Amino acid sequence: MLDGGAHGGPDMPKTILVTGGTGYIAGEIIDQLLEAGHVVHTTVRDRRKSEDGLRDRFDVGAAKFKIFQADLMDDAGWAEANADCDAVAHVASPISTRTPRHEDEMIVPAREGTIRALRFAKQAGVRRFVQTSSVAAIAYGRDEKSYRVDESAWTDITHPDVTPYAKSKTIAERAARDWMFANGGTMEFVSVNPALVLGPIETPDFSPSVVAMKQVLDGSMPMAPDLGFGVVDLRDCADLHVRCLMEPGLANERFIASGRFMKLIEIADVLRARLPAEHTKKVPKRVMPNWMVKAIALVNPGLRSIMNELGKTRDLDTSHARDELGWETRPVEETIVDCAQSLISHGVVKL
Ligand code: NAP
Repeated sequence: MLDGGAHGGPDMPKTILVTGGTGYIAGEIIDQLLEAGHVVHTTVRDRRKSEDGLRDRFDVGAAKFKIFQADLMDDAGWAEANADCDAVAHVASPISTRTPRHEDEMIVPAREGTIRALRFAKQAGVRRFVQTSSVAAIAYGRDEKSYRVDESAWTDITHPDVTPYAKSKTIAERAARDWMFANGGTMEFVSVNPALVLGPIETPDFSPSVVAMKQVLDGSMPMAPDLGFGVVDLRDCADLHVRCLMEPGLANERFIASGRFMKLIEIADVLRARLPAEHTKKVPKRVMPNWMVKAIALVNPGLRSIMNELGKTRDLDTSHARDELGWETRPVEETIVDCAQSLISHGVVKL
């Protein structure tokens, strides 16, 4: 555990700010921190819109769970949110399935929001700052079809295939590390770099990361494009964040959070093998030939950003988190089934 801090010795509860409390990953981190007895602060963009839902979900009282309104692009509210905090998990950042009109719609809030969060954390005397970065900052912008990467790699944002989202995550993490080098003082910085996060959703207001799972289930994908992702369970991803918030001696560390690399057709196979047949009637049984994806992309611009991802395999080396932090991941089948069942039970997928 982080020793000392505003709330005393190594085994004492801490006060932690988790930014973007309405989010999929942030919600699970908040859950695990409250469960462990910590006091949690969170930021939301619009308190009036979000407070009731968050208080219903985290029913621990206002002394243990405090909600502050703060936008990534505005200083208002950040000093109050950081007050008395020992550590920060900076999770909020733009993420979308829609390609923005201009890449700066993602890059600017990601970079400026991260620097703003760092600046106010430092001013408040926060000791540990954990940034939710992404494998999008590590493993993209390469021509090889199949490769293995670890935390020493960085996405090449000059590569033409790199999406605005991957640029935003790479630029934000680099900016954070540069800012820390120049201004960080004794505050410690760690990044968690998750792969595709899947797992149970708690509200119908789900993250873009589960959209592919929704499409596999609801028939919008009659055949599965030859696409794959490292998959990490939401609960394991949050657990790695909590370890990074608490463990001593992690300054400047970087941890990939991923389980197994899965092609969409493998995810479909798991669903068919493990869910009741009436839930998998629309799940694809075949891989869509790449020529067909390319033909559809001519009339569906949304598919163009995946064209260069077809057929790629990325082996993400997670030995650092496992060896250094004792981090473990559950079987990917459990992640896939829990995600699918929650999408069905929340009515996100209509069968
Ligand atoms: P999410 O559910 O969409 O959460 C994103 C959060 O960021 C929301 O709380 C959102 O607030 C907040 N946000 C966005 N723009 C903001 C702004 N201008 N000011 C304040 N808050 C803002 O997505 P998620 O999947 O949990 O992702 C959370 C983080 O994990 C992101 O940094 C993402 O890049 C990273 N990540 C996600 C995955 C994944 O597969 N999900 C993988 C790797 C990394 P609103 O509710 O107000 O929109």
